[in-house]
Amino acid sequence: VIVVKDLAKSFGDNHVLHDVDVTVKEGEVVAIIGPSGAGKSTFLRCLNKLEDVTSGHVVVNGHDLTEKGTDLDTVRQDIGMVFQHFNLFPHMTVLQNVMLAPVQLGRASKEDARRQAEALLERVGLAEKADARPAELSGGQKQRVAIARALAMKPDIMLFDEATSALDPEMVGEVLEVIRDLARQGMTMVLVTHEMGFAREVADRVLFMADGVIKEEGTPAEIFERPRDPRTQDFLSKVL
Ligand code: ATP
Ligand code: MG
Repeated sequence: VIVVKDLAKSFGDNHVLHDVDVTVKEGEVVAIIGPSGAGKSTFLRCLNKLEDVTSGHVVVNGHDLTEKGTDLDTVRQDIGMVFQHFNLFPHMTVLQNVMLAPVQLGRASKEDARRQAEALLERVGLAEKADARPAELSGGQKQRVAIARALAMKPDIMLFDEATSALDPEMVGEVLEVIRDLARQGMTMVLVTHEMGFAREVADRVLFMADGVIKEEGTPAEIFERPRDPRTQDFLSKVL
């Protein structure tokens, strides 16, 4: 569960986010759409404190990230994040990439981490690539490894920032399939995406963000078929 209240974020004089109030319930899939520079990535990064917030509150599973003394490591272990660029460790095999965090953070023995990593690679359809290096994989395969790596920490929330934007079109489907599967299994997710068809299909709720505020939110049908805000209408007319 994520509760964001009155969130504001500035970089110097650049007021990137303001008055952002969002609640994400357990098992809910929320898609964030909106033009470039709207603050979507910044918002997502505030949810696991990759950015310090300027004011307001971000409460994840009851832990207020904006309060001093909150154990950030514990909170971050609950939240997996997948980026546009996969950030895999190039000198390690696929299996080692997926095993690394649980072992390093003392969450699992090496044997358990290995078994779990194998199961996760199976789940994302890459069991046969366990011993390959990232450089030997396609973009879609790399991104599926990045998802498996995030899942290895057994997060109960997953954040995706344009996870398919860097992929060739023919690779997008295989990554979306993995995300769709997570949604079916009840994972709580926040997805920043420019795949409107996917947002519409997989999201329970869609937020349209522009100029650092959430201009409009609703079900996929409300946002994509009956947008009320002129900014939403304008944006959708350009991307649909
Ligand atoms: P895109 O769709 O292009 O990814 P976005 O909605 O994700 O855009 P952000 O990356 O959140 O937008 O950026 C919002 C604003 O915040 C931009 O004006 C950007 O220049 C600024 N910004 C983002 N990160 C930083 C940073 N680390 N330092 C300074 N300014 C930043
Ligand atoms: Mg972004």
